[in-house]
Amino acid sequence: MSQPCVNIGMVGHVDHGKTTLVRALSGYWTDTHSEEVKRGISIRLGYADSLFMRCPKCPSPQCYTVEKTCPNCGEQTEEHRTVSFVDAPGHETLMATMLSGAAIMDGAVLVIAANEDCPQPQTKEHLMALDIIGIKNIVIVQNKIDLVPRERIIENYKQIKKFVKGTVAENAPVIPISAQQNINIDILIDTLETEIPTPVHKIDRPASMLIARSFDVNKPGASIDEIQGGVIGGTLTEGVLRPGDELEIRPGIKVTTEGTTKWVPIMTTVSLIYAGPTKVEEATPGGLLAVGTYLDPTLTKGDSLTGQIAGTPGTLPDTRHQFVMELHLLDRVVGVTREEKINEIKTSEPLMLNIGTATTVGVVTSARKNEAQVALKRPISAAIGSRVAISRRIDSRWRLIGVGVIKS
Ligand code: GDP
Ligand code: MG
Repeated sequence: MSQPCVNIGMVGHVDHGKTTLVRALSGYWTDTHSEEVKRGISIRLGYADSLFMRCPKCPSPQCYTVEKTCPNCGEQTEEHRTVSFVDAPGHETLMATMLSGAAIMDGAVLVIAANEDCPQPQTKEHLMALDIIGIKNIVIVQNKIDLVPRERIIENYKQIKKFVKGTVAENAPVIPISAQQNINIDILIDTLETEIPTPVHKIDRPASMLIARSFDVNKPGASIDEIQGGVIGGTLTEGVLRPGDELEIRPGIKVTTEGTTKWVPIMTTVSLIYAGPTKVEEATPGGLLAVGTYLDPTLTKGDSLTGQIAGTPGTLPDTRHQFVMELHLLDRVVGVTREEKINEIKTSEPLMLNIGTATTVGVVTSARKNEAQVALKRPISAAIGSRVAISRRIDSRWRLIGVGVIKS
């Protein structure tokens, strides 16, 4: 299997069938993931690679499958495209995780269960998040069609069309499927092929990787000569990475000397790279990578570097402890039953900010109608022009209230 070339998000309300669909699309090879990578990357952002196969004899869409033999004619299928699925948690308390997952999505599948009214709270909240983060290639899946009669499927379809009107998903195709019964999976793959194409990757640029996970792969009690360096997991947005390459990680680590605290970038070297289950000599953008380094594993343990950026030394964006952002607030809070109006941002209020895979809290130090300055609890490495998903604490939960763009 070749390295995945595109990352597709699986989003939608809890229990609508995201994980089941990822499984239905993952085919025969999912078990071949190495334990470390599986443990390391799949837990928080459930993630799986999938190899779309194509039957050389059958017409589309029937030709598409994830099986080695064609379910229609029994012919041996051929490798078509490797994609990586990022399975976002649908639970409302995990929006921060969903948002950092969305940062690495090239397109998304919005899963909507046909046996419930549409939209459910997180159906709405996730679609809003896709819009805010700027994900335009969306396919809507109407799942669980095996559970309801035809009339109900049609009625649910009408609810979906009404719900997406005026949103980024207005013209997204709606594919009725059953993830559990494997109904219309071929049509879904066919649709993903046209609606979520492989992006044009800038591989001639310096390497830049968004870190989604970081971990210590050593078993307790491992002897000194068995110990492996710290591992970071994430996706390359530009450039290529090879074992032996030097790596800078920003903002890096917090160092306090004589009462002053500074964030110091980490320098290391790539020791090995896994793309899905495969050890590779060169990694390109697309899919999630596990990158081994020579760092002390205590530095990477327990996701301590999640949200940071790794890449070619000297080319990473500045470390920012504060920034000014241009504001675009939503009218109403989504993802709740009572959709209150969103008030203007006020000085000294805390906001949850998601930039790339980073989640940080920023306290507003000055606010005007279309602009706010924030002081960050934890610095980030981000370029001018980066998008910021802004959430506010409402009734003890962080709610998405808008998007910002870093100005200075
Ligand atoms: P998630 O929370 O969106 O990841 O949802 P899951 O994939 O965990 O599915 C929630 C429940 O719905 C599980 O019990 C699944 O077996 C069930 N389920 C998922 N897809 C289908 C489907 O197409 N048909 C039926 N009947 N059940 C499904
Ligand atoms: Mg799930």
